Amino acid sequence: MAQHYDYICLGAGSGGIASANRAAIRGAKVLLIEAQQVGGTCVNVGCVPKKVMWYGAQIAEAIHLYAKDYGFDVDVKKFDWATLVASREAYIERVHAAYGRGFASNGVTLVQGYGRFVDNRTIEVNGEHYSADHVLIATGGAPTIPDIPGAEHGIDSNGFFALNEQPKRVAVVGAGYIAVEIAGVLHALGSDTSLFVRRHAPLRGFDPMLSQALVDAMAAQGPTLHTDAVPKAVHKQQDGTLVLELENGERHEVDCLIWAIGRSPATGNIGLENTDVQLDEQGYVLVDEQQNTRAKGIYCVGDIMAGGIELTPVAVKAGRLLSERLFGNMPEARMDYSNVPTVVFSHPPIGTMGLTEPEARAKYGENNIKVYNSTFTSMYTAVTAHRQSCKMKLVCAGPEETVVGIHGIGFGMDEILQGFGVAIKMGATKADFDAVVAIHPTGAEEFVTMR
Ligand code: NDP
Repeated sequence: MAQHYDYICLGAGSGGIASANRAAIRGAKVLLIEAQQVGGTCVNVGCVPKKVMWYGAQIAEAIHLYAKDYGFDVDVKKFDWATLVASREAYIERVHAAYGRGFASNGVTLVQGYGRFVDNRTIEVNGEHYSADHVLIATGGAPTIPDIPGAEHGIDSNGFFALNEQPKRVAVVGAGYIAVEIAGVLHALGSDTSLFVRRHAPLRGFDPMLSQALVDAMAAQGPTLHTDAVPKAVHKQQDGTLVLELENGERHEVDCLIWAIGRSPATGNIGLENTDVQLDEQGYVLVDEQQNTRAKGIYCVGDIMAGGIELTPVAVKAGRLLSERLFGNMPEARMDYSNVPTVVFSHPPIGTMGLTEPEARAKYGENNIKVYNSTFTSMYTAVTAHRQSCKMKLVCAGPEETVVGIHGIGFGMDEILQGFGVAIKMGATKADFDAVVAIHPTGAEEFVTMR
């Protein structure tokens, strides 16, 4: 006999945890199933450890690039990678413990083991059967490895977080968030780092101003950017070093190679063939706008769902809204996937939301778009020999000049965007931005003083 619950969440990552807790708070009897560590990608091998490494990189930059001109005569004896990793992992342990306390106080039951669907209502874990009226699939994704000879000699982002020693020479391959963030952190912490992108620039899908400004920043301060660099093969040499061979014939010897070329949905082994859930060609779970899969009573949120946005807060919000709909008496609740703000923790950081300039021109027409730009040197770096540029852009549409895109790269952008996100979600116009008194001297004030 299966043990019966109101709600089963398969996967205790950001989406599953958020949905399970909210459902339990609304009175549902909830089971949460996780094969690995609670917290999923974000907490264990994603956002959280990445941000700790990024903060470490900020300290390195403060010491090596800026301290001297602020009057500090710093003599760094050494940087100990293992200490940073230990501090990071101890922090993650505290996050795990906090999750445990949350489950206990909300009344969520956690089962650790690999869950597989037996049918549309039943999941088997560790030989036990559990059934529910409602089941959420929130098993997330995993890094993709390219199909080229020797690819197995490289590691992925999970492998990066498992590194106990700092690699001396590193090749990072990829052009998205993860490649840019890992390459930036390794470079700032002192590894000889090269970023290999197969086209002309990283972050091609972002506003062209952001992509170009990042290329310029890399040219000024590193890491070394290799463009039009298509990997052909990886060779492992007798001494353990690797050679990345490119289609153009170039060969680069490194100690560590990191693949960051995208992620794939984790649908492979969870028994979806025993359900009526349908997948798209890439294996993502098809859902409607209220997270319903094609199987009645089975829902999906997060990185595994088709047409979603692979960001933790998106999964969290979608998971909570789903639980409000199922158990919180909010039948119309649904996630709004438009205008999602996001930050790339690059060097300097990028904040972006809404339409890029080319997207806005295509959507509204050339004559219905007005674009405001600002370029300045961040004050933090302006008093040093390592001046770093900030660039900001507002993309406005229609006669009211509604702000439909906001993009920035520069010191502090990671913390600047959230509040502007509220304004844009409320439909703010350029005039609304202008009506706000600037906070001086900050970088953020540029967004309300653009001409
Ligand atoms: P992305 O899908 O963002 O980027 C991967 C890029 O790598 C592709 O866009 C492509 O760029 C390039 N690429 C693809 N295949 C190959 C290949 N065979 N060889 C060389 N390059 C290739 O994936 P990520 O792994 O960076 O990140 C996954 C998702 O995780 C992100 O989309 C993001 O949503 C999320 N994330 C968010 C973070 C944040 O919020 N700060 C941090 C990290 C991840 P091109 O076509 O230009 O070559």
